[in-house]
Amino acid sequence: MTQAAGAGRPSIGAGRLAHRLSRARHLALEAGRDALLVGVGADLRYLSGYAPPPLERLTMLVVPAHGRPSLVVPRLEAMAARAIPVVEAETVAVVPWDETDDPFALVAGLVERGAPDGARPPSAVAVSDRLWATFVLHLQEALPTARFSLLSDVLRGERIVKDPDEVDLLRAAAHAADRALEQVAHGRLIGRTEADVSREVRDRLVAEGHDEASFAIVASGPNSASPHHEPADRVIRAGEPIVLDIGGSLGGYGSDITRTLWVTGGEPSRGPDPDFLALYGVLRDAQAAATREVRPGVPAEHIDAVAREIITAAGYGGAFIHRTGHGIGLEEHEDPYLVAGNATPLRAGMAFSIEPGIYLDGRYGARIEDIVVCGEDGPIVLDAVTRDLLVVHG
Ligand code: ZN
Ligand code: ZN
Ligand code: ZN
Repeated sequence: MTQAAGAGRPSIGAGRLAHRLSRARHLALEAGRDALLVGVGADLRYLSGYAPPPLERLTMLVVPAHGRPSLVVPRLEAMAARAIPVVEAETVAVVPWDETDDPFALVAGLVERGAPDGARPPSAVAVSDRLWATFVLHLQEALPTARFSLLSDVLRGERIVKDPDEVDLLRAAAHAADRALEQVAHGRLIGRTEADVSREVRDRLVAEGHDEASFAIVASGPNSASPHHEPADRVIRAGEPIVLDIGGSLGGYGSDITRTLWVTGGEPSRGPDPDFLALYGVLRDAQAAATREVRPGVPAEHIDAVAREIITAAGYGGAFIHRTGHGIGLEEHEDPYLVAGNATPLRAGMAFSIEPGIYLDGRYGARIEDIVVCGEDGPIVLDAVTRDLLVVHG
């Protein structure tokens, strides 16, 4: 684990990035791509550590099958680009373009010069999956002989396995989210709106170390039956559950934890009803059983099947209306997805959520979610908040 100067948090060093870039070049060559064209987003950050905001001016990392990668940037961002470690280490060259230049012609020239056989026109390039259509269409015009395909075809196998630095960042993010969740769960809730509590969640995610809050679902009472509920002006009352599903990003890596609370209070005090306790017990068992199954070689869909069998056997099968989990890393949702039909075998270093839920429309619902890393010998659970029902005197 490398520490960023003064920040006291894990970070991805220039050496690690240089290694990723040379791997990417090797894979491009192997896959018959003349170059990888990477726009602003998770892939750019993964390969170069550079994370500028997405703008209408083109920023593009060009990774040719041969030769040095170039970072094509608008002139006004060249200074920021020159400050990133892989540029300082001269692993990547910065190629600025001026307001009147054609950045797409610039990229095409770099692809042509870096092709395995510079004498022939480029025949194939891979573009990052989330590159805007406006950039893709201009690139297709500038590279008329090239077949375009998705970067994920080349890079999926790399990004899906997290290296130790990435796991450290995921762990730091998970622990920060854990603290934020504990604080909110044990604070005042009754009489406040969901939106108000949601704002508090976002503030606490940042206060606990995230660079930004990404989402803060606060779903109370009947709203808890809606997995992606948008917190609004409903006032939280005693005698009902709340599903808290919160996350942010730290050093680029995501956190994502869900816990279900039951808010007691009032006269007589209104604890969880027996139906809810029964439902929660089944969910708790399903989430634990699915987590225990995590180890290298197990198909992703098996984890989903284990959770689903337990929930279905208890009669709630129709109320578990989403997949069991999603990969997490530089993106909130990424490969591997824990869903029927995905036979991808788990590998050590894969990171994903395990988050079964049971939702009774019009009544209430519950979900338990942890981020889990597949270890050599079994699951490594990053979140540490108890998975028992949190009965709180809100
Ligand atoms: Zn979700
Ligand atoms: Zn979540
Ligand atoms: Zn999730």
